[in-house]
Amino acid sequence: MRFSGFRVLKEGLTGNKGWTPHWRDPEPKSEYDIVIIGGGGHGLSTAYYLAKEHGLTNIAVLEKGYIGGGNIGRNTTIVRANYFLQGNSEFYSHSLKLWEGLEEDLNYNVMHSQRGIINLFHSDGQRDAAARRGNMMISQGDDAILLGRDELREMLPYLNYDDLRFPLYGGLYHPRGGTARHDAVAWGYARGADQRGVDLIQNCEVTGIDIENGVVRGVQTSRGAIRAKKVAMVVAGRSGQVAAMAGMRLPIESHVLQAFVTEGLKPCIDHVVTFGMGHFYISQSDKGGLVFGGDLDFYASYAARGNLPTVESVMEAGMALMPMIGKARVLRSWGGIMDMTPDGSPIIDKTGVEGLYLNCGWNYGGFKAVPGSGNVFAHLIATGRYHENATGLRLDRFRTGRGIIDEEGKGSQHNLH
Ligand SMILES: Cc1cc2nc3c(=O)[nH]c(=O)nc-3n(C[C@H](O)[C@H](O)[C@H](O)COP(=O)(O)OP(=O)(O)OC[C@H]3O[C@@H](n4cnc5c(N)ncnc54)[C@H](O)[C@@H]3O)c2cc1C
Repeated sequence: MRFSGFRVLKEGLTGNKGWTPHWRDPEPKSEYDIVIIGGGGHGLSTAYYLAKEHGLTNIAVLEKGYIGGGNIGRNTTIVRANYFLQGNSEFYSHSLKLWEGLEEDLNYNVMHSQRGIINLFHSDGQRDAAARRGNMMISQGDDAILLGRDELREMLPYLNYDDLRFPLYGGLYHPRGGTARHDAVAWGYARGADQRGVDLIQNCEVTGIDIENGVVRGVQTSRGAIRAKKVAMVVAGRSGQVAAMAGMRLPIESHVLQAFVTEGLKPCIDHVVTFGMGHFYISQSDKGGLVFGGDLDFYASYAARGNLPTVESVMEAGMALMPMIGKARVLRSWGGIMDMTPDGSPIIDKTGVEGLYLNCGWNYGGFKAVPGSGNVFAHLIATGRYHENATGLRLDRFRTGRGIIDEEGKGSQHNLH
């Protein structure tokens, strides 16, 4: 079933009876070439690119809940390529290019909106850091514009320029950044993978990983054993738990991050705005809700809900930056489990077990990585070689201390321990 304007018109005029389910609901087979654990954004996009770019279709994605129920459906939907360090910058740049062709590629409206992101800065030192970052982005082939206070005021007149505790000096504007509808991204990739023959198995929890003589043989699941030549662990916040089934201890802590949505309002915030000093970021959804979030709850947890002190500090930061939002009523809030690495950068790699692959460590920012991550991970699984845009996302950097990509990490320096 392809989507088109003509199809929408036809269905509208004939009672919407011709739409079919987006994907099948198959029973798991006893054996696959590749099993992907985790039906989040990264697992689904990996399956999609394995099928589309490498012609591998004897694949199952095993999801313990339902497609779109994890972080892929819980994030604040920010898409950007404004990284500073090599290792990250070429990877996120690659991902952003895939975003730009995604809707046509998937034949699915993921509501990708390049409305631009503005990261605020509040001192001369921060301005210098923003200028350096902008130059790195431009040299990577992406876009960046340094805004002074007057230009910022023209673009974002609603900010508090008069008595903000951290005065506004300007912002780093990334016009190609923006947002997308998060669960549509999961549905679009799921549909695309399914159409190419991938089995999406929901309500199927992986409970064990079978390994013989250092080679992966398959997985144990709540729906029986499944043999596989290759197994990919793509479970985001649950990475530590699933890797433990293969006897691995990962440099990952799982933390809660919360998000908030207000009632629908007329358009008032045209961009994504981030306020690092208050740890607050905001955009407005197409339905009109203000979508915003802040920092982690700062204790390790697998609970997909947050706590009131963080709610309070996020609201305070929002009110300090743009007092007008105090009039909006918050309708919903929720939490998601973040897979935090010590250097703040992801891991896409093989493991010490032959045929077992690892994709995790997405920290606060794995939504924008979904196309790039699936694309380069599929390349690694299919060819055994690192994709040219993902040579630095190696697991062993945490053991050797070499190649740490400390974009925003606050963890220990591994080479010193
Ligand atoms: C509040 C919040 C705001 C965020 N904002 C942004 C943002 O603005 N921009 C951005 O880029 N990123 C953002 N993120 C991060 C982003 O959402 C995540 O990094 C990304 O979604 C993680 O990858 P995923 O989609 O594959 O994860 P998930 O959707 O969580 O997928 C993992 C899946 O694995 C499944 N699973 C786990 N264990 C098993 C098992 N044993 N067997 C089978 N299946 C299993 C889970 O059920 C889950 O569905 C945010 C996250 C949160 C929580």
